[in-house]
Amino acid sequence: MTLVDNHNHILLAEITEMLAAAKANNVSEFSITEHVSQFREPRESIRFGSIHPSGRIFQSLKEYNAEFRKADQLAYSGMKINRGLEVDFSPRFETKLGDFVNQEEWDILLCSVHEFEDGKDIEKSVRGTADTALAYEHWREYLRLEQKALESDFVPFNVLSHPVRITRASKAAPPELDDLLLNLARVARRRNKALELNGRDIDYAPELVRRLATACSKADCRVSLGSDAHHPSEVFRNMGVAMALVKEFDLELTQQLRQP
Ligand SMILES: [Zn+2]
Ligand SMILES: [Zn+2]
Repeated sequence: MTLVDNHNHILLAEITEMLAAAKANNVSEFSITEHVSQFREPRESIRFGSIHPSGRIFQSLKEYNAEFRKADQLAYSGMKINRGLEVDFSPRFETKLGDFVNQEEWDILLCSVHEFEDGKDIEKSVRGTADTALAYEHWREYLRLEQKALESDFVPFNVLSHPVRITRASKAAPPELDDLLLNLARVARRRNKALELNGRDIDYAPELVRRLATACSKADCRVSLGSDAHHPSEVFRNMGVAMALVKEFDLELTQQLRQP
């Protein structure tokens, strides 16, 4: 199997450091997918519910593109480098954000749900709550929003990233979770999108990512592998685990990246 890592950030580390880490892990296809909220224009015009409090802000897409030219000059022999973005989905601002992202063509676009419909950060909303019913409701709302994202054409994204990230806030998943995941995977399959096996999610919820892989297998939906690295040491994190799931469940990897 060729080694792929389709989800990486450069807001806290240099692109050259991230690429060197990928090379050291023998990665043959590597995607840089910065958060749209790290770009000045959307950051100023949209009140994102979830943002990194620190880290580089790109003044423009031009400045971002220049990073990839740096990468080209260094010629990481044989490694395919994809220029991408991680795009937040929220009904509040999908059209506005779509206009920003669709100014250019991308090698890969990830779509993520980071906030609830009222704009509250999903990782902060339910943490520590003793109210199980409320926790379940947050899970259901999160998965409903992800389904909405999959149905949306706001940007031509390839991958729905970290589908079970809500577990960060609420460990208590509803009893019908496997049905909800299967439903999500079926929508992904119908919409021709991949679901992500995310390295950060594998860190704290390996069992959940396994249940996600099971759902993908049942629905015959493709998966994408991404470490969600923000630092060089996190590049390719848990991708061995993800690849083992791909093999065990005979999953198909996404092949929707734009060809050069
Ligand atoms: Zn994310
Ligand atoms: Zn990310």
